[in-house]
Amino acid sequence: METDEDLKARLTRMQYKVTQEGGTEPPFSGKYDSHFEKGIYNCIICGSLLFKSEHKYECGCGWPGFWEKDGDIKFIKDYSFGMARTEVQCNKCNSHLGHVFNDGPEPTGLRYCINSASLNFVGSKVKNGGKFKTVKPNDAVKGPASRGFSTLQRSFMLLRRIRV
Ligand SMILES: [Zn+2]
Repeated sequence: METDEDLKARLTRMQYKVTQEGGTEPPFSGKYDSHFEKGIYNCIICGSLLFKSEHKYECGCGWPGFWEKDGDIKFIKDYSFGMARTEVQCNKCNSHLGHVFNDGPEPTGLRYCINSASLNFVGSKVKNGGKFKTVKPNDAVKGPASRGFSTLQRSFMLLRRIRV
């Protein structure tokens, strides 16, 4: 079990604020808002599977939207900010994920409005008998590549991020 110190050291400020303090990342700012690669979205804190890319859709609200959950998620009534909403948390580690609304597409009619900061995407491309999982190059190009890192550094950074 990670201590609060461990989490602070490992997470970005936004990831910490969202998952541990129930914060919300600014709309259209998260890295998975317009991200539609094939793969799975795990909890950034405990690594549990939460959502799959096949249930993600373009909801246009500024946060990643899913119409179905794929993991162990719990629902909590949230009356903050004078609104009646349903908060969703990772059931394993209680980290805050976002909220669920009733304006999603069929067949569920649900919209899980989730902070990118709560998620860790793992692409579905698997090499070497599952030992190395890669994300699509697309993700890397937009990030470290444009800031002049070498290919080796980039691979290392990707591996670190995925934490195989
Ligand atoms: Zn979790």
